Amino acid sequence: MLFEYALSAQREDFYDITPQVKEAAAKSGVSNGIAVVYCPHTTAGITINENADPDVVRDLLTGLDKAFPDSPGFLHSEGNSTAHLKALAAGSGVTVIISNGRLLLGTWQGIYFCEFDPPRKRKFYVKIIG
Ligand code: ZN
Repeated sequence: MLFEYALSAQREDFYDITPQVKEAAAKSGVSNGIAVVYCPHTTAGITINENADPDVVRDLLTGLDKAFPDSPGFLHSEGNSTAHLKALAAGSGVTVIISNGRLLLGTWQGIYFCEFDPPRKRKFYVKIIG
């Protein structure tokens, strides 16, 4: 079963989409299977990371800025090559195991939509496979 969600990303940030993935799993009726969460954009991504301390996301964004600074050598005419590089680092999707009706996430894990080229109207997909 495929679910599509919309997201209005006003700033560069990690948006917690764990509730939407849980909702999709619940609506599907699949209690043992997998959830594939997929981002169909080239300057955004999907990742799993800590959702307990918001400073972790701040530090990840700071680290990505340091790892992928803008460069006068970039050729891409849209001028957002750093956003493409950050999307490369995040990846375009994750797979989460559903067991006994629950997502098998670690205690401190959350699923994030990562926006690197705001503001954008985005979407992401959740495919539940039983
Ligand atoms: Zn571009």
